Amino acid sequence: MTIKYLNVLLLTIITTQLYAQPVEITNSLYETYDSYKEPTLNKRRIKHQELVPLVKGYRNNPKFDVTTVGSSIEGRTLSLISIGKGETDVFLWSQMHGDEPTATQAIFDILNFFDSDDFIDEKEEILKNLRLHFLPMLNPDGAEVFQRRNTLGVDINRDALRLQSPESKTLKRVRDSLSANFGFNLHDQST
Ligand SMILES: [Zn+2]
Repeated sequence: MTIKYLNVLLLTIITTQLYAQPVEITNSLYETYDSYKEPTLNKRRIKHQELVPLVKGYRNNPKFDVTTVGSSIEGRTLSLISIGKGETDVFLWSQMHGDEPTATQAIFDILNFFDSDDFIDEKEEILKNLRLHFLPMLNPDGAEVFQRRNTLGVDINRDALRLQSPESKTLKRVRDSLSANFGFNLHDQST
C-alpha cells in the first residue's frame, strides 16, 4: 500500500501542476493503480537481476530512452530511463540504501503507467512539459545482500562530497549532466 500511496501522490503532484481536475485524477489513479503494478517485483527483497529484463524491455521500447550510466563495484549496470519532451527535467533515483526497495518498485509501476494506453490526455500534458529521468536501484550490490551500505561499506547518502564510491560518482555525473530542475532522492520507511 505504501508504494501505491507514494505513486498516487507523486502523479497527483505532477498532474495537478498541469491539469485541471486534480480530484478526479487522484481518484481514478487510485482506483486503477493495481493495473500498473509491476508483477515481477512483488517481494520485500528485490535484486538487480530482476530489473535486468525490465530495463531491457524499455531499451527496446521507442517511448523510452535508456542509457547505461555506470556500474557498481561488483559490476552491476546502472541505467537511466528517460521519457518526455518537456523543458523541465526531473531526476528520480532510488535505493541508494540497498535494504530500501519500495521506491524501485514504485519507479517500475510508474514506468508501466507511462507505457500503458490509459490517461492519454494527462500523460501527453505531463510529457509535453517534463522530461522524467529514472535511475532505479543506485546500490545494487547492497540490494543483493539487503544491506544499507554498498560493498565498500560506504553509505552512499553520506558520500556526496567525498565521492569514494562509483555509485556516488555516477549519481553526481548524471545529476550534473541533467542539471535537473527537480530531484527526488527516493528512500524507504521501515518494514
Ligand atoms: Zn534510505
